[in-house]
Amino acid sequence: MRWSQWYIPTLKEAPGDAEVISHKLLLRAGMIRKLTAGIYTWLPLGLRTLRKTAAIVREEMDRAGAQEILMPSVQPADLWRESGRWKKYGKELLRFRDRHDRDYCLGPTHEEVVTDLLRGEVRSYRQLPLNVYQIQTKFRDEIRPRFGLMRGREFLMKDAYSFDKDDAGADESYRKMFAAYKRIFSRMGLKFRPVEADSGSIGGNFSHEFMVLAEAGEDTIAFCNHCEWASNVERAAVRADTPAAPAECPAAETVSTPGQHTIEEVCAFLRTSAEKLIKTLLFSADGKPVAVLLRGDRELNEIKLKNLLDADDIVFASPEQVQAWTGAAVGFAGPVGLKDHCPEIRLVADLELKNSSDMIAGANKDDAHLAHVCLARDLAAEPEWADLRLITAEDACPRCGGSIGLARGIEVGHVFKLGTKYSEAMNAVFLDEQGQEKVMIMGCYGIGVSRVVASCIEQCHDDNGICFPPALSPFQVMLINLDPKKEESAAKADELCAVLEQNGLDVLLDDREERPGVKFKDADLLGFPCQLIIGGKGLARGIVEAKNRKTGERTELPLEGFAEAFLTWQKSVLDSWA
Ligand code: ATP
Ligand code: MG
Repeated sequence: MRWSQWYIPTLKEAPGDAEVISHKLLLRAGMIRKLTAGIYTWLPLGLRTLRKTAAIVREEMDRAGAQEILMPSVQPADLWRESGRWKKYGKELLRFRDRHDRDYCLGPTHEEVVTDLLRGEVRSYRQLPLNVYQIQTKFRDEIRPRFGLMRGREFLMKDAYSFDKDDAGADESYRKMFAAYKRIFSRMGLKFRPVEADSGSIGGNFSHEFMVLAEAGEDTIAFCNHCEWASNVERAAVRADTPAAPAECPAAETVSTPGQHTIEEVCAFLRTSAEKLIKTLLFSADGKPVAVLLRGDRELNEIKLKNLLDADDIVFASPEQVQAWTGAAVGFAGPVGLKDHCPEIRLVADLELKNSSDMIAGANKDDAHLAHVCLARDLAAEPEWADLRLITAEDACPRCGGSIGLARGIEVGHVFKLGTKYSEAMNAVFLDEQGQEKVMIMGCYGIGVSRVVASCIEQCHDDNGICFPPALSPFQVMLINLDPKKEESAAKADELCAVLEQNGLDVLLDDREERPGVKFKDADLLGFPCQLIIGGKGLARGIVEAKNRKTGERTELPLEGFAEAFLTWQKSVLDSWA
C-alpha cells in the first residue's frame, strides 16, 4: 500500500475536546473522525485495526465452539416488555416509533432477541448446549459519552449467548468463554486482568470483567498481593473485622456544633478524627426514605446499596426531605431517635459499625451532635447490617486476608452467568431426557471491540505516539522512502515491499514527497511495530535502516539477503512484545 494513495489524514494537534490519550492519538493518526457526540467514523487505518481486533475475537469464539450469527439492531419493544426491561432499562435505551405507531429500540444488547430466536427453534435437550455470537453495532444513549471510543453511544460489540440444559452445562459454557477471553486478550498483546464484577442491568448470578490495565480506566480494581483474588471495587466485599463487643461507653449527650455541617467541620470543631464519627446519608429510594450509616472516614459503595435496596431510582434526599425526616437542616442527621421523627425510614448500617462505641453522630436537631453514641445500646431497634462501604488499599483481601492493591482498569469484556432470568420471563423451554419441560440456562459474554482499540492505545503509547502491539497494528511495517522522486530509491522501495508482502507481512510504503522529519514523526505517531528507512546513503552502502518502534532500537539490514535478515530482526521486535 502506498501512503500517497491512501486516506490517512494525520494531524499535528488533537482537537481540544479530546481528553484522553487514546482519543487524541486516534484522531491525530487519522484513524477515526467524530460525527457527533459518541458517534465516530472509522477511516482506513483505524478500520484495519478494528478488523484485526474483531478477527482475533472471531477466531477464538469459533475455536471455543460458538457459532457466528448476525441479529438486527432494530428490536421490537414487545420483546423488551416480555423481559421486563422496557421499563427498567432507562434512558440508555434509544426508543422510537415506526409509521404504524409501534414501539422499537436500537439494540444496546441482545438477550431478548436471541432468546426469542431460540425459544422458537430449540425443543429438545439434544439441541443443547448451543452458543451463538455476533459482532455487531450497538447503540446506548450514554448519559456522558466521552473519551472517544471508550464510551461511545454507537460502538462495536461482540456478544455471545450460551444455552444449556442444566447448571453443570452452563458452568462449563462459562468456563469455556472465560478461557477464550484469556486467549483473546493475550493474543492481542494486552496486559489485562479478569476480576469479579457486579452484574449491572444485564442481571444474573455472577460475572467477571476483563480489565485492560491503564491509568485512564474508569474502573478501579482491587487485587490481592498473595492470592488470585481480584475484583472491581464496585463489587469487592470488605472483610468485616469488628471487635467482639462494644467497649464501655459513657451515656450519650448532646453537644452544640453551631454551623458545623460536614464531617471535616465537625472533626475540626470537636477536635476528633473522622473514624470517631458516624456518617448518616439520607436517600430517597423509589420515593421511600432510607438512612445509611457509615464510619465518617468511609465511602459508600453505591452498587452495594443499590443491590441491597433493589430499587430502580436512588437519589440523595432533598433539603426539604431531610428537614421533614429528621427535624433538622442538612448536616445534623443521626441514627439515634431518627425513627421518632420518621417511623417509616429504613435504617441500614455498614457492618463495620456493628460494635462501635463512643461515636459522634448527628442529633437530628439543628446545630447539634450526639457524643458517646453506642449503636447497640442507643438504638430502639437494630438497623439492617450490611457490607456497604468501598474497599480501600488498607483493607485485607476478603479471601485470604493478605494485603491488597488498587489499580485502574478499562473494562473490555464481561462474562455473565445469567441463569434463567430471560429464559423464564420469555418461556424458553425444552424437553429433557425424561420428556419433562425445563427452562434453558443462559450465559452472555460481551467484548467491546471498538473499546479494545482505544484501550490498546491507552496501554501502548509514548510521547511520540502509538506503539501498536503487533497483533493489532494496522500494518506490520512502515517502509519510509526518503527520496521518492529518485528512481533508484522508488524501485528499491517497491522491491522490498514486494519481498515483505511475499513473506506474509502487511506494509505501508510512505512514498509521500514530504521532508524526512515529517515522515519520521508520522511513522512514530502511527506506531507500527517495524520501521524501515530507505535513503540514498544507505542504498549506496547496501543497507536499509530498521527501527523497533517500541524500544527505539535501531539496526541496519543488508539489501543482500534482505528477506532473511528482516525476518530475524522482526523476531526480535516480536520478542520485545512478549
Ligand atoms: P460500562 O460499565 O463500561 O458501561 P457495561 O457493563 O454497561 O459497561 P456490558 O453491558 O457488559 O457493558 O457490555 C459489554 C462490553 O461492551 C463491555 O465490557 C465494554 O467493553 C463494551 N461497552 C459497553 N458500553 C460501551 C460504550 N458506551 N462504548 C464502548 N464500549 C462499550
Ligand atoms: Mg454501561
